[in-house]
Amino acid sequence: MRQRHKPWADDFLKENTHLIVPDATEKKGKWHTLFGNENPIHLEIGTGKGQFITGMAEQYPDVNFLGIELAKSIIVMAGSKVKEAERTNVRLLHVDAADLKELFTENEISVIYLNFSDPWPKKRHAKRRLTYHTFLEQYQHILHPEGQIVLKTDNQGLFEYSLASFSQFGLKLQEVNLDLHNEEDPVNVMTEYEEKFSAKGQPIYRCRAQFP
Ligand code: SAM
Repeated sequence: MRQRHKPWADDFLKENTHLIVPDATEKKGKWHTLFGNENPIHLEIGTGKGQFITGMAEQYPDVNFLGIELAKSIIVMAGSKVKEAERTNVRLLHVDAADLKELFTENEISVIYLNFSDPWPKKRHAKRRLTYHTFLEQYQHILHPEGQIVLKTDNQGLFEYSLASFSQFGLKLQEVNLDLHNEEDPVNVMTEYEEKFSAKGQPIYRCRAQFP
């Protein structure tokens, strides 16, 4: 049965405000001051349990990472992982990606990662896909002019939809990879879902896109 009230998650959030930022809208335009440097900020949307963002923060110490996750019981798992890794270049936000413009000012973000986003396969749910045009409008607003969207998924339907959506919006595709794990990519950091699906033999798709 789905547990609605999770006091341990509330306690974790209260005790770890240095990792999971409360009142995130107050940081709009000031995220650099939180990290105490001018390094570029990369944003992961739908961070899940935090393996990707923690691995990226370790691999790229000169980049600041922000992870957005809607589900409270999941963001606390990501928080535990970040805490254990003792990284200072990563923070998490317990917010909805639909509110990005309230969280970030123009050009504040250098890269957006969409990893194994929920595919929402039913047509009537298309608006919820993180590559629906209303999300792309927000990404365009907060991304630096040379910024990129990097999307990874195992879901062919979401991948095809996203390529079409990017193209209709005028984004330039810089990479389209139909089988990421079939080649050596020493810098690829795997997410929890990526590990799970690639272990089942499913191809992993990746694309990189940039606004004109
Ligand atoms: N990225 C992780 C991975 O690859 O292992 C998790 C993938 S999981 C399928 C999608 C995650 O995105 C879930 O944890 C979900 O709660 C989160 N999510 C979905 N819609 C969101 C939204 N609008 N804002 C923030 N997080 C969202």
